[in-house]
Amino acid sequence: MTIPSTIHQRCFYHESREAACRCPICRRYFCRECVTEHDDRLLCVECLKTIVAGQAAPRGGVRRVLRGLLPVAGILMAWLFFYFIGRTLLLIPAAVHDGTVWESN
Ligand SMILES: [Zn+2]
Ligand SMILES: [Zn+2]
Repeated sequence: MTIPSTIHQRCFYHESREAACRCPICRRYFCRECVTEHDDRLLCVECLKTIVAGQAAPRGGVRRVLRGLLPVAGILMAWLFFYFIGRTLLLIPAAVHDGTVWESN
């Protein structure tokens, strides 16, 4: 009986070791030592780190949203800045027309 060569995968970290399982996230093969059970799944160290890092920071989602809003906030700040500059510039000629120019005549 011949086993297809695809089954005889080597561990991503250990060339000499035969892969025991495949990480469901990165789809790479690993030996039994290079995977850890997490939520009934066998994940490689790298993917586990990513998941643990994501869980360690539960506000990561909020932070990501805030980071996404940052350019919007920047545009808003710039808009407000130019809005008030524009208003100020509009107020100056208005004051000139309403007061000084006509009263001096
Ligand atoms: Zn992985
Ligand atoms: Zn390994």
